[in-house]
Amino acid sequence: MGPLDIQWYFRAGWVDPKPVKAAYQLCEANLVTGVAHLKKAKTGGFMDNQQFREWSRKAADWGAEYRRTLAARPVRSQVAPGDIARHIAPSPPEQSEGMEEIFEDFERFIVPGMTHCQHPNFFAYFPANAAPVSVVAEYLVTAMAAQCMLWQTSPAATELEIATIDWLRQAFGLADGFSGSIQDSASSATLVAVLTMRERALEWRGNQKGLAGGPRVRIYASGQNHTSIDRAIWVSGIGQENLVHIPVKGDSRGMDVMALEQAIKDDIRAGYLPAGIIGCVGSTGVGASDDIVAISAISKEYNLYLHVDAAWAGSAMICPEFRHYWEGVDQADSVVVNPHKWLGAQFDCTAHFIRQPEETVKTLAIEPEYLKTHGKDNLINFSEWSVPLGRRFRALKLWFLLRAHGLEGLRAMIRNHVKWSGELCERIRQAADFEIITEPMLSLFTFRHAPAGIDDLDQHNLDLVGRINEDGRIYVTQTRIDNKTVIRFQVGQFETMRENVMGAFEVIAAFARSGN
Ligand SMILES: *Cc1c(COP(=O)(O)O)cnc(C)c1O
Repeated sequence: MGPLDIQWYFRAGWVDPKPVKAAYQLCEANLVTGVAHLKKAKTGGFMDNQQFREWSRKAADWGAEYRRTLAARPVRSQVAPGDIARHIAPSPPEQSEGMEEIFEDFERFIVPGMTHCQHPNFFAYFPANAAPVSVVAEYLVTAMAAQCMLWQTSPAATELEIATIDWLRQAFGLADGFSGSIQDSASSATLVAVLTMRERALEWRGNQKGLAGGPRVRIYASGQNHTSIDRAIWVSGIGQENLVHIPVKGDSRGMDVMALEQAIKDDIRAGYLPAGIIGCVGSTGVGASDDIVAISAISKEYNLYLHVDAAWAGSAMICPEFRHYWEGVDQADSVVVNPHKWLGAQFDCTAHFIRQPEETVKTLAIEPEYLKTHGKDNLINFSEWSVPLGRRFRALKLWFLLRAHGLEGLRAMIRNHVKWSGELCERIRQAADFEIITEPMLSLFTFRHAPAGIDDLDQHNLDLVGRINEDGRIYVTQTRIDNKTVIRFQVGQFETMRENVMGAFEVIAAFARSGN
């Protein structure tokens, strides 16, 4: 960047270009002498531009080679606790070390301690995709050290965030009354929702007065809810006892709606303050989903805030045929979806859709003098929509991703995953010594090995998962449902092909049938 570019940058007019140009020239001169000084003083370590270029290229080459050889690595890291820590120096070095050495240690000591979430045989937890195009965008963001707390601290970041959130809104088929922001995690978005429901119920007195002495704020969610909801309840000061777990029923294991309404009525009678409901579409354990139409009707009747957690399943809503899972979602006050799971945006990237951002801003905005953007009203400062002040530039990778793949490309991938997962489920159903425990919800289902003559099936399946994962060819996890330990299987990686999914059965069956 030269002085001319600087002039261009500040053409918007709130900074006079002349002093900036002078400052830039001074700065450049200082930088040159600064680097020379560093070199002369042999403090070393300061990466000059040429070295930066070379090492960035090496990193890019390494990343491409990593992806090329990914399938040959064990999916789950095979190290024992402490294996990696042993290789890390106990204290920071006093003298500069060479980049060759640092990079070599990265390959020798760090990489073996990595579990490869993008491996085509990763069937554990939920997917954590990093489409190469989003990795490239992240690299650019990192190079700029973007800081996106206010419009002013990176106008492009704010304006692209507004645009990409609206792209996602359209892609998921959400009503145009939603706006939103990009957060680091679904946990953060849910915390913001819980804080907003708390403050709305308390008529915005909680932040000032605290919760002591006030009525008991009550939040309702299904017994299948994600632990991020419990955490949000703790952090917001509402307290675990005031998170009312509603029992689930039916095949979709959604909240029993009559029980939900009864719990609200009982709480009102007891003098408590019902504040909000957290619905879930696609729970982490088995894909449990609440009837959003029914619970949104209750939220309206009792004037409660409704937050919908579709952190994993939400990505699949780019396919219209799956939208029945969250029918009624347009009635929610907020919705959270993680494009960093199934959609391929490099972690971290959480879309937090909000109906009434004024309520969230009223809950979270704080404006010390140094953050005021005088004379620039009506601008969105996204730090007022979330808990942290500093914010990464997360919209760029979404923009790159959605443009490079197109919605059709992403839909084809998700449809394949759902189809292959269904095929595998049928294959397992046919095996006499296995049983399906929960039917596929999108690409997630659970099963267990249940041959005759084994007393403790829970321990048997837990051991089986352990042996499968130590082998390293595939990676699965277990969960508990209906008092059973079961094997959980989901398909969602960009690199996964049908052979990977069907091949998983061979590995699972071989270990299951070989005994301990
Ligand atoms: C993954 C997940 C979360 C938590 O997401 P983070 O972004 O890791 O906080 C919450 N709810 C559901 C249903 C999830 O699948």
